[in-house]
Amino acid sequence: MTIKKPDQVLPSSPTSTPSMMPMNIPDTSIRGEAHSQILENRGIRFLHKKATPCPNIKRLDDDSHEPNCPICDDNGWFYYYQNNITGMFVSNSLQKIFERQGIWEIGSAIVSLPTEYSDGTEADFNTYDQLTVLDYEVRMWEIKEYQPTANGFQQLRYPITHVEYLSAVIGGVLKVFVQGTDFNVVDGKIQWLGGHTPPYNPARQVGEVYTVSYFANPVYNVVQTLRELRVTQEMVNGVKQAVRLPQEVLVKRDFLPNGSEKVGGP
Ligand SMILES: [Zn+2]
Repeated sequence: MTIKKPDQVLPSSPTSTPSMMPMNIPDTSIRGEAHSQILENRGIRFLHKKATPCPNIKRLDDDSHEPNCPICDDNGWFYYYQNNITGMFVSNSLQKIFERQGIWEIGSAIVSLPTEYSDGTEADFNTYDQLTVLDYEVRMWEIKEYQPTANGFQQLRYPITHVEYLSAVIGGVLKVFVQGTDFNVVDGKIQWLGGHTPPYNPARQVGEVYTVSYFANPVYNVVQTLRELRVTQEMVNGVKQAVRLPQEVLVKRDFLPNGSEKVGGP
C-alpha cells in the first residue's frame, strides 16, 4: 500500500514540542566590514565563561559523579576561563526590545560574536559555555535558608548588584529586612549584620527561610553553536590566507534554582 503524499502543510498542534531552533537564522556576518562596525556600535559587553565537564567522577565506567560536589556545585560542569567580548543579539526585533526594556522575555536568542576577545586573543564557543550581559541588570528572586557563616556572607545564585526586597515569616509574622540595618551587599553577596540575622536553630542546624528579590546581570547558557567552523579566504599580498568569520551561538536564559541547588550554602 502506498501512503498518500500530504497535500497541505500540517498545522502545528499545541501539543507538539516546539523546536528549540528559531525558524530562520539571519547571518549578519556575511556583510563583512559592516558587521564589524555594527558590533562596535550596537554591540554589548559580555563576560564569556568556558565550560568543561567536572572531573570529580570516581570511575568513567559508570559515570559516577560525586554527589555533593563542591567543585561544580553539583552542576556536572564548571568554568575554567573567562574573558570579555563585545557581541550582539542578531535578530533586530530582539535587539530593539533589549534596548528598550533591557530584557527579552523569550526563551532563546542568537548572539553574534567576533573571532576575538576585547583584548585581542582568539575566542571560541561551545555548548554549556556562559555569557553574562555586563551592562544590564534584571530582577531575580530566590528563596534561601539562613545559614550562619564566618563573616556573615551568604551567596545567591547570581552576584547581586542590589537587593530590592528581603523578608522572612518569623513566628507567623512577616518581617522585612532592611539593607544597611540588617544586612549589606558586599562583593555581590549578602552580608548579615550581627544581631540582625534571621533566626537559626543550632540544635537542628536549621535556619529561617527568607525570600529575596534582587537585581543581577542576566546570564545566558550556550545551547548550541551555529555556523561554528567558519573560515573564508582572503588575499594578503597576493597570497590566499584562511580567515575566521564571526560566530553565532544560540543561547537560553539561565533559570533560577533547580532541585539540585544547595538550599543554604555559604
Ligand atoms: Zn562536580
